[in-house]
Amino acid sequence: MDYKASDALLDLQYFGEFGGVNPSISDSSTYTFLSAKTMFDTFEGNTEGCYLYSRHSSPSNLYLGEALAALEGTETANVTASGMGAITAVILQLCSSGDHLVSSRTIYGGTYAFMKNFLKRFNIEVSFVDITNPEAVQGAIRENTRMIYCESVSNPLLEVADIPNLAQLAEAHGMPLVVDNTFSPLSLAPARLGAHIVIHSLTKFINGTSDTVAGAVCGTKEFCLALKDVNDGAGMLLGSTLDSLRAASILKNMRTLHLRMKKHSENALFLARQFEKDGLRVVYPGLPSHPGHERMKALMVPEYGFGGILTLDAGNLERANSLMELMQRENLGYLAVSLGFYKTLFSAPGTSTSSEIPEEEQKQMGLSDGLIRFSIGLDNDIDRTYQKMRRCMETLEILPVQHA
Ligand code: PLP
Repeated sequence: MDYKASDALLDLQYFGEFGGVNPSISDSSTYTFLSAKTMFDTFEGNTEGCYLYSRHSSPSNLYLGEALAALEGTETANVTASGMGAITAVILQLCSSGDHLVSSRTIYGGTYAFMKNFLKRFNIEVSFVDITNPEAVQGAIRENTRMIYCESVSNPLLEVADIPNLAQLAEAHGMPLVVDNTFSPLSLAPARLGAHIVIHSLTKFINGTSDTVAGAVCGTKEFCLALKDVNDGAGMLLGSTLDSLRAASILKNMRTLHLRMKKHSENALFLARQFEKDGLRVVYPGLPSHPGHERMKALMVPEYGFGGILTLDAGNLERANSLMELMQRENLGYLAVSLGFYKTLFSAPGTSTSSEIPEEEQKQMGLSDGLIRFSIGLDNDIDRTYQKMRRCMETLEILPVQHA
């Protein structure tokens, strides 16, 4: 039978401390031990059934981790205080001074900045490659390469990574493939496709209410425990710990993820098709014109669609800015970064979420000035939204006026 992440997630059963259908929220930073010996054993790593200190783990964080492991089909998962908290901990856990990693060049700007500017301080080198070009990835691997890193669907250019091939390549060189799956929860299941470690910014679709910053690392028990090791675990020692109250609220939001993803995808596909028909340059993996369309079709779980993110090219930055301001005034969404909200969010990546990437490199990777990234919302009548967006574009002469 086909594995369904949403079934695994919704099949999780909870009997709260007092019989509640939601687990009780743990509200302690520290925990008592009935004997000093148990405390000693816990510090030695025998943490089964015991909580020590909430930076290490807490009941609420473990519940959320369990749900994320069910989502991604991994043995377990750790949660963190942000997506960057997950990304930086994983990289620093896997790479030491003198090491090297291979990364896709089209990744979230913060991840790019960390790799390009921050890892230098630790004498860790990064080769940025076109992740859709297998020879380029293979050619960048060195003896001291410790990981291959990519996003399943990349930010903001929506390149689709060939996860099974990249996983094989990583394995052949004895290293993990690390995939950030923030853009495509449920649609793509990287671990099922061979990835060794899956990262999420929970801030986005998974939480879906734009009220929380959080992250996750999904992987083997061995790796997730290593991250929590009190002596040398990057998760434990760098201290990016999620608060229990937030963990509990994200867990509750995850129960509607399957419904939300279907609607985000349905709405995004509708708009992408319409605007492409209108003659705009649209990037959306659900369009046959997208270079990663066939790959995505081969890798995805079809019922969740091609995701809620699309980009449109408004021609230049001025027009992009005017269009975003007008759409916000017309209540079509918010001029805001981030993704996965019930309302549409739009921003120009070149001057916002990818501004860490130097202009010249932006050009090389096809990130044009006029590009607008849309995180399409859960609009109930998407045709009405399309008509209103179209009128904004007509007003700004991005599209010719359509006569009835
Ligand atoms: N990964 C991707 C693909 C993102 O888009 C972002 C944020 O925009 C992050 C990671 C970072 O996550 P956070 O903002 O939760 O630290």
